[in-house]
Amino acid sequence: MRFLLHIALSLFFVLSLIGCNEEEVIQNLKAEGNILQGQVDSLKREIGKMESMVRNVRVIRDTVRAGEGPFHLFTRLKAQVSHGEEDLGRVYAAMQDSVEFKLRVGEIFYVSVDSSNRVQRFRYAPNPITVHLVSKTDTGFAYQLIEKPVVKKQSFYEGTLEENSTLNGILFKVGIPGRMVGIVSGVLQCKVAFPLARPGDRFRVLLEDSYYQDSIWVGGKVIYAEFDGRNVGHHEAFRYEDEDPKSSYNAHYTEAGDALVFDGLRYPLEHLRITSSFGSRIHPITGQRKVHYGVDYGAPTGTVVHAVAEGNVTVSGYDDLSGNKIAIKHRDNSVSWYMHLQSRGVAVGAKVSPGQAIGRVGSTGRSTGPHLHFGFKDANGAWINPLSKTMIATPKLEGARLARLKKQVSEIRKQIELTQAAPAVRANDTTDVMVHMRVVND
Ligand SMILES: [Zn+2]
Repeated sequence: MRFLLHIALSLFFVLSLIGCNEEEVIQNLKAEGNILQGQVDSLKREIGKMESMVRNVRVIRDTVRAGEGPFHLFTRLKAQVSHGEEDLGRVYAAMQDSVEFKLRVGEIFYVSVDSSNRVQRFRYAPNPITVHLVSKTDTGFAYQLIEKPVVKKQSFYEGTLEENSTLNGILFKVGIPGRMVGIVSGVLQCKVAFPLARPGDRFRVLLEDSYYQDSIWVGGKVIYAEFDGRNVGHHEAFRYEDEDPKSSYNAHYTEAGDALVFDGLRYPLEHLRITSSFGSRIHPITGQRKVHYGVDYGAPTGTVVHAVAEGNVTVSGYDDLSGNKIAIKHRDNSVSWYMHLQSRGVAVGAKVSPGQAIGRVGSTGRSTGPHLHFGFKDANGAWINPLSKTMIATPKLEGARLARLKKQVSEIRKQIELTQAAPAVRANDTTDVMVHMRVVND
């Protein structure tokens, strides 16, 4: 800074000497010099302030490990800051409605703390274009979503099965990411009996990829998949986007609204240790033979309990037998039950998402030690073995959702036409698959 100022002043001086009114030039020079010096001083003060701020901020960095959920991560972070329970609790509260934590191994979280080790900022970037930022304000913590611009490209693939080939094999060969190949075959499998597919059967797929800075792939969606076979018939799958991006209605459907995926159940605890299974047993307290209408999972008091699927809380209360109990009704009218809880975190009427924390393990009611009694009732209200229930069927879309799907179907057909109008190239040398590509936005 001083160096540049020096050069500027010298240059000005030399240039001014070329002029004729020397006295005036010197006065002007002095005035200029004073102004510049004032600017330099105030800049120095600002730099000093910033340096002391930076000195007092420490950044904690943590990486998601295999098998971890948000609970593990927050537990570790809490241990590294002061007032962790309070500060990170408020950080979580500020973003819980906006952020769904689907942690992947290797994802990095940043927490910056001040000199007294209190949380100032929390940063989570699930991909290069999305940053969730929670910052301390005068009144608490405020959430902010930063989305960097992306370029979207659609690719439309057309091909036929060849001798001794499978749809999966061909899609892999043309370089489609494995996760998307899995989605294409997964949704088509709901309708297409692939063992009966024959060489010459046709398939068409529309994918949309997002790129950051034009080259870094940040994600992709399967928008459309079609299979037309001699034996298996003609089937189409359309990606439906619900008004609520967190809804598990977000899935692939036929044009008529039949779901082409099933929603697998999550587990109620991060670690499962069955201490008593479903069925007939001797009751540990009364000594009587009784039917045990659920599964007991042993876990320390305070362990977080998760909703196993999306649903609405229909019971959140206490009785002398079950202790603190929660019931959640799911889309297919089955109901999951969570009993003997130490604490309940959701009220009757609350809408919960899959994996959401709803309470903590305890030993309330008739219980000999901390455990979760987990039960399941079917749509008719009969207790079933929770271990036999692995999925909640996504029902047919109806009413407003079906109307929304129909709109999206016609939009998707337009997109197919537009992308198909782009010139076709062979996707690779070893297949006859053709691909058309176009940039959707820029
Ligand atoms: Zn039990």
